[in-house]
Amino acid sequence: MANETMKAKLVVIGGGPGGYVAAIRAAQLGSGVVLVEKDLLGGTCLNRGCIPTKAMLACTEVLDAIREAEAYGISVGEPKPDLKAMVERKEKVSEQLRNGIAQLLKANKVELVKGFGRLAAPDRVVVETEEGEVTIETEKVIIATGSEPARLPTFDFDQPAILTSTEGLELTEIPSSMIIVGSGVVGSEFATVFSSLGTKVTMVELMDRILPTEDERIATQMKRLLNKRGIEILTGTTIEEVLEYRPDGVKVKLSNGQELEAEKLLVSIGRSLNSQGIGLEEVGIKTGQRGEIVVNERMETSVPGVYAIGDVVGGILLAHVASFEGICAAENAMGLDSVMNYDVVPACIFTEPEIASVGLNPAKAEERGMEVKVGRFMFGGLGKALAMGKGQGFVQLVVEASTDKVVGCQIMGPHASDLIHEVALAIRLGATAKDIGSTIHAHPTLAEAIMEAAEAVHERAIHVAPARKK
Ligand code: FAD
Repeated sequence: MANETMKAKLVVIGGGPGGYVAAIRAAQLGSGVVLVEKDLLGGTCLNRGCIPTKAMLACTEVLDAIREAEAYGISVGEPKPDLKAMVERKEKVSEQLRNGIAQLLKANKVELVKGFGRLAAPDRVVVETEEGEVTIETEKVIIATGSEPARLPTFDFDQPAILTSTEGLELTEIPSSMIIVGSGVVGSEFATVFSSLGTKVTMVELMDRILPTEDERIATQMKRLLNKRGIEILTGTTIEEVLEYRPDGVKVKLSNGQELEAEKLLVSIGRSLNSQGIGLEEVGIKTGQRGEIVVNERMETSVPGVYAIGDVVGGILLAHVASFEGICAAENAMGLDSVMNYDVVPACIFTEPEIASVGLNPAKAEERGMEVKVGRFMFGGLGKALAMGKGQGFVQLVVEASTDKVVGCQIMGPHASDLIHEVALAIRLGATAKDIGSTIHAHPTLAEAIMEAAEAVHERAIHVAPARKK
């Protein structure tokens, strides 16, 4: 392939959940689609993010279930986690999915070019492959180069004790102790995994509460549950300096003066966007303060015919958002007219129990000056949840007071990440709490909690005791 020139209708740079989905959607609409990927198909999501973390969480869920077996009338010995075997299993899951994507690309006649792609002009992409440079002349381009873990200058990432989420997923020996810097989604999921493996976990969070972007009630309850798992949480605290790096650990000084030692320190403070070195300045594509590529509602950059999607546009850094942006950009690149709509974006956190949210929470509704009513239902009052032994958490449904239309929902509890989609669809279709409450939900199911929360908005939930009248 050395120093070759190719022609294409569309080149997609980056094969993560944004890029590969864009390539497939474009190929459904016409021929001549090339996908450029420098590393593994599936990007962060499939190789270092969503899927590997969920594969590890599936392992620790089994571990937790065995530990709780006695409560279900089953006697088993103390389980022994084998982290190496868990990591191997996780790799197999990723590999299976990667192969699936490769097959889908082939079946859709998307040409895959392996190498680092950059824009040489709005209609020319140059790829550095192992065999040499490949120039692709193209009508349109979609940039989907994603993001990498953000690194704080406080830490020397060459030290074996300092990890980002990427290295955290590759450990094959269970650390005795771990400091997790940042208590957002990724930090909380890692805390769940490692606490279950028996690691003594301490979370250090700059803000005054964990999960700073989540509903306050949920964050408060989750803090309690993480504490119950033995996780120490220090909020309103930062790491001022590293006092000592050792081959077997690290010693740090916190902003409260306390000194802390651990075998590993995992930094999960967000993502830095992959917008460097890909020809943006040369071609005149506008970027923002964090290096995010500026796009319009059609996902088109400041240069016509060049689109950008996914983490690199710096909006909502979630795989499903990247994929939907990819579909939008691909449709526009292939001559259709598509706009992105972010009104209904479910977001999930795979802690134990899970957290899921969509639309507005009561605080956000208030910020917008919207008068809302809230209906809540506790999983502790639900037959299926108790039968499963998963009675922790609640559903909180938020509706516009004047119209009864559902505008948001927050769930903490079993299978929250699956349950949230009933409400996502309700919001999208403009359904009311009465619509949900009057829809027969099968018994016994977890989904009944959403029906009950909807009925609770109008104080007519059957399984909620009426508020005492004064
Ligand atoms: P990426 O997935 O980052 O893919 C970009 C691709 O582009 C990569 O394959 C990269 O190799 C390639 N690339 C970069 N530059 C070039 C170049 N110049 N030439 C060629 N190729 C290039 N999101 C969820 O929705 N749910 C979750 O549960 C979830 N869990 C997560 C857990 C962790 C630990 C992390 C880190 C993230 C998680 N995310 C989750 C976020 C999710 O992974 C990202 O939002 C998503 O992967 C973004 O997709 P993308 O296609 O924009 O970029």
